Amino acid sequence: MNASKPQDTPVETTDIAIVGGGMVGISLALLLARQNPERRIVLIESFGFADESERPFQSSFDARSTALSAGSRQILERCGLWQNLAGHLTCIRRVHVSDKGHFGGSTIDAQEYGLEAVGYVVENAWFGKVLATELLNQSAIRCHAPASVRRAEAREGGYRLAMEEGEERFFLDCQLLVLADGAESRLRQQLGISVERCNYHQSAFIANVKCDRPHQGIAYERFTADGPMALLPLGESDQSATMALVWTRPSHRVQKLQHASDREFLQKLQSEFGYRQGVFTEISTRHLYPLQLVVAREQIRRSLVLMGNAAHFLHPVAGQGFNLALRDCQALSDALAAADSQGLALTDTRILDSYLQAQTQDQWATIRLSDSFVRWFSSGELAKSVLRNLGLFALDTLPVAKQLLAKQTMGLGGL
Ligand SMILES: Cc1cc2nc3c(=O)[nH]c(=O)nc-3n(C[C@H](O)[C@H](O)[C@H](O)COP(=O)(O)OP(=O)(O)OC[C@H]3O[C@@H](n4cnc5c(N)ncnc54)[C@H](O)[C@@H]3O)c2cc1C
Repeated sequence: MNASKPQDTPVETTDIAIVGGGMVGISLALLLARQNPERRIVLIESFGFADESERPFQSSFDARSTALSAGSRQILERCGLWQNLAGHLTCIRRVHVSDKGHFGGSTIDAQEYGLEAVGYVVENAWFGKVLATELLNQSAIRCHAPASVRRAEAREGGYRLAMEEGEERFFLDCQLLVLADGAESRLRQQLGISVERCNYHQSAFIANVKCDRPHQGIAYERFTADGPMALLPLGESDQSATMALVWTRPSHRVQKLQHASDREFLQKLQSEFGYRQGVFTEISTRHLYPLQLVVAREQIRRSLVLMGNAAHFLHPVAGQGFNLALRDCQALSDALAAADSQGLALTDTRILDSYLQAQTQDQWATIRLSDSFVRWFSSGELAKSVLRNLGLFALDTLPVAKQLLAKQTMGLGGL
């Protein structure tokens, strides 16, 4: 379909079009609907929201779990989602950081910061259900799902999208286009926006594991010469013994482990992680994710903004990707609400400029944090190994450094 030759093709119009109904696209739509009630919002997603059988194929809502920071809680409360999530969240009361075979180590304790929890863990499948239910309850948001945007073209007063919904073909004209269509965004590529890409040559195993003792709300970040690993508490109480595993391994060495029996896998896991959480007894189906850092070279253009994985795709081990994206969503929604009160047109470049200005420092601090977790903590080199141990040791003994790291991790700013 050629977006520049409308001929008889019907044209729909809206103020804001969001392409991508993953965790980020839906969260943004809900925030915008609350803070910018006068705006017409359209959300377009390739998968259907109502058909449960399709959920697992949608990239955000698979078998993973997401660690939500205390900062994310504040945002999710603001868009009315927290209540519905609360019954299915696990509180992280303490984070234990360690390095395999070395003396360094550190803990971040919620109590030290006067908080109920350092963060919360939610299974993505449940999060997806809560987001989709809230979305479908919002009359202010028009959804095209399953539908897909084939092309986007800049035009006077915004963008024209070439839409495909079942057998139907039509155009959607919007004043502001939000691309929340994932790390491999085809529209980003089609619009000629290039990315910085760093392949970590690592892949992450994702699975739920059972232990022989309750997790008591403790999350673990552990660094090994082969890559970082995280264990997050799951279940509705501290007495649950199920944990979500994110285990990073060099990509060239995952084959054998991928095909290992559950018993062999758990044995290897146990030898890398140790026994501080007892004995691992069971494991769910394992999934493997190749890891890289992808950062768009342009995040904004006139009438266009990239959000979520389309803007920055981070290594998952520090659990920062969605939390950062949610802060971006809040900042964009704030910038649009401020523009409304000042009477600015949606196409006014000052709106997106002010959004990016507000978020640049947070984005780079978070990208640097998760990137350095991987670079410093995935190495068997002696010099790095010594330094990272000094780093963890210093972290535990230098309150200011620890507070800054903890604040960034909790999504409360600081670095
Ligand atoms: C293993 C792993 C663990 C993670 N753990 C954490 C964590 O603990 N904490 C944390 O904060 N973050 C975590 N993250 C990061 C988090 O998962 C991402 O930030 C989040 O999934 C980004 O969502 P998104 O909506 O931007 O992109 P996606 O989930 O990729 O969604 C994009 C959506 O766009 C749709 N789409 C694409 N193209 C089109 C089109 N042309 N038309 C219509 N629809 C389209 C797709 O169908 C898809 O639903 C983790 C990531 C990984 C890989």
